Parts: sequence; C-alpha cells; structure tokens
Amino acid sequence: MSKQQKPIDTLICASWTIPVTPRGEVFEDFAIAVHQGRIVDLLPESEALQRYQPDSHYTLENHALLPGLINAHGHASMSLFRGLADDLPLMEWLNDHIWPAEARWVNEAFVADGSKLAIAEMIRSGTTCFSDMYFFPEVAARVAQECGIRAQLVCPVLDFPTVWASKPEEYLEKSLKLAIEYAEHPLINVGLGPHAPYTVSDKPLINIRDIASEYDIPVQIHLHETQQEVDEALSKDQQRPLSRLAGLGLLSDDIHLQCVHMTALNEEDIAQLKGSAASVVHCPESNLKLASGFCPVQTLLDKGITVALGTDGAASNNDLDMIGEMRTAALLGKAVAQDASALSAPTALEMATLGGARALGIDDQCGTLEIGKSADIIAVDMARLNTLPSYDLISDIVYSLSSSQVAYNWIAGELKLEKGQLTELDEHALRENAISWSEKIKANK
Ligand SMILES: [Zn+2]
Repeated sequence: MSKQQKPIDTLICASWTIPVTPRGEVFEDFAIAVHQGRIVDLLPESEALQRYQPDSHYTLENHALLPGLINAHGHASMSLFRGLADDLPLMEWLNDHIWPAEARWVNEAFVADGSKLAIAEMIRSGTTCFSDMYFFPEVAARVAQECGIRAQLVCPVLDFPTVWASKPEEYLEKSLKLAIEYAEHPLINVGLGPHAPYTVSDKPLINIRDIASEYDIPVQIHLHETQQEVDEALSKDQQRPLSRLAGLGLLSDDIHLQCVHMTALNEEDIAQLKGSAASVVHCPESNLKLASGFCPVQTLLDKGITVALGTDGAASNNDLDMIGEMRTAALLGKAVAQDASALSAPTALEMATLGGARALGIDDQCGTLEIGKSADIIAVDMARLNTLPSYDLISDIVYSLSSSQVAYNWIAGELKLEKGQLTELDEHALRENAISWSEKIKANK
C-alpha cells in the first residue's frame, strides 16, 4: 500500500455504472468506493486503483452496477400463498380465497417463514429495499433486520378484527409502538397502513392522519384499485375515495401518503394528487392479473407526481421480481398512453429506484448511486445471449434482462448475494420450509 492510498472497506469496479442521477447516464469502467456502508467515491477505475486500498476488491467485467431496486408495495409473507388462488377477479379472490386462508393460517410463524422466503427471492432478484403491509409487522421487521435488508413495515389498520388486532384503536396502538421502537434504526422504517377506503371508516382515518403528522410516519393505502371500488364509494358516500381522503386531511403537505394501484383516475383525482405530498405506487402485474384496471402512469409523471413501482404480494403477481415488473410497467405504460415513447426505459428504471426512494421518503439515503448515499448496489451480468449485442444498456436492462442475471447485491455495503448465490440465507432450508407449508395448506384446503 502506497502512502497516498486511502484504506476503505470495498472497491467495486465494473464495466458500466448506471447512477440513475443524472438520468440516462452510463459511466464506463468506473468504480464505486464503499466505506462504513456508504458510497464515498464514484470515479474512473484507473484513478480508484491509485487512490484506494480496499479490504475487498471486486472487478466485475461485463457487469453493470445499478442502485438496488426498491419494491414499494407488497405483502411479503403471502409468498406462502403463491399460486393458491389464480385467475379470479379481485373481490372474489379476496373474499372467497385469500381472507379465509389468512384466517386459517396466518400467525407469527407464518409471517416469519413467509417474510424470509420473500426476502431471499427479493435479494436474488436485485431488490435492496421493500415495503411490506401485513399482519404481525413486528415479526417481519425482526426478520428484515436479521437479513439486513432495508424495509418499510406498514402496519395494517382495519375496522374489523383480524389475527393481529381487534379494533382500530388496538391496530394504531400497536403500530405506534413499533414506529417508536424502530425510529432510529438505520434500515427499518415503520408506516401506517389503512388497508383500503372500503375497510377503514372515517374515525380511524382521522386518527391515522393525526398520528402520521405528529410523528412524521408515512401512510400507505390500497386506493382506487378498481373502477368498482370507485363506483361503490360514489353510491355509498357520494364521493370518490380519493376525495374522501382529501376531505379527511390525508392529502396535505405534511402527510407522506403512498397511494397503491390508482387505476380509474379522472382529472380531478390527478389534480388532487398533484397538489399534495402524496405519491403513487404502481403495481402493473398485480393490476393485470386481477384485471383491476390501468394506472395512467405517464400522465402522472408528466404532472410531476412521484410514481414508485411494486410487485404487490406473490399471491397476485406471482413473483417478487422487480426486473420483470420494470419491463411490464414500461410495456403497459405505452399501451395505456397509446404512445410508444411513453414510459421509456430510463423512466422505468427511475421508477424502480429513485421513484421508490422518494415515495418511501428515503431518497436522501438510497435510490441512486451518489456519494454520501448508502451503498445499496446491485451488479447484473450483461454477458448473456439475451442481452447481446448491446446498443443501449438501459434499454437492455429494462427490455431484455432476466432477474437470473443479478449477480451481486450489497445493502448498506454488506454483500448479500455473490455470483448469484445468497451469502447468508440458507436457500436449501428455505426451499424445504416452503414445501412443508404448502403441504400443510394443501392437506387442509
Ligand atoms: Zn397490496
């Protein structure tokens, strides 16, 4: 080590680096210097080799470095219900299959095992941060913490009793306790999750607004998932669900409202979103699979509204693959806008990274590869037949990359995936456990 060289934890050199900011930029033969979990430098490889003396050094030829993907909406432990009830419309799927299965099976062990299975799948496919809305969020938080993945745990709130709580006051009490417990955690955030406008009445929504504002806690809700939801609200409340939330004070500057799905939007809805701090979480594959409707993503982006991307749970997707989700979002966005230039490849990549970080309120920490941010980085192997030849790397990533090409995944500088293999989680044990749950569930269906 020469005198001038600075000791650092990790130096990652790759053929290409896509920082996402500046938009569309691709750096060739660059290196990312990582120390104490943060990106401390981003510079040409030749300079990096002179300047730094790393403990760990990765030279990744034919790989592209990207910010870790952010899955902004899901129900991680529902991975154990993957494929349980398919090819059904939303309300029949929920009422006749998912809710009964949840009543029968969901407990702390289910959430622990399902969350771990989901986290392993997400790490393998390039996700470094996920949002999770499910029962026993304290269990999912513990599992996420053990796995060292960044997460937003959204605590459910409903009018009716479930396995986690009996009434809105109890849901909120438990949610606030968890939020306070994790307030200072570097990787875990806690949010409030009113399930949907049709399952949560005004009084708890007002309480949610007050708690969110006082403690600066994000709120995530399934909203305008279908035209049917909007029509039923119009006949019951004489107003659209989004207008009802606005009337209750949830669409204001100081509430970080994350509106999941947002199909069936009219101009008034879009104007309301634009005038607030709310963001939209688009889940194209879940919307397609449940035939829920279409989110006008390019129109929202044109208005300056933040749009993030989510897979939703594995019971309605049926995977947690954000690379596939990016591609679906880009393709669907064009069809919905009836414009092939809508939702371009750089836009889709930005939604899956920076858009997610903005929606979750953590864009000061992640979402791009920039000095000072957390080292949440993935490397994808571009030397496969399906991504060759290459004329435009970002197009290749959005339109032809497969998640099996994700080779490395660092979260806050910790290596979670190396050469496509999980470094900490035991894949064999996860597989056995998933099979054993499915056998139990099948035997009692
Ligand atoms: Zn959902």
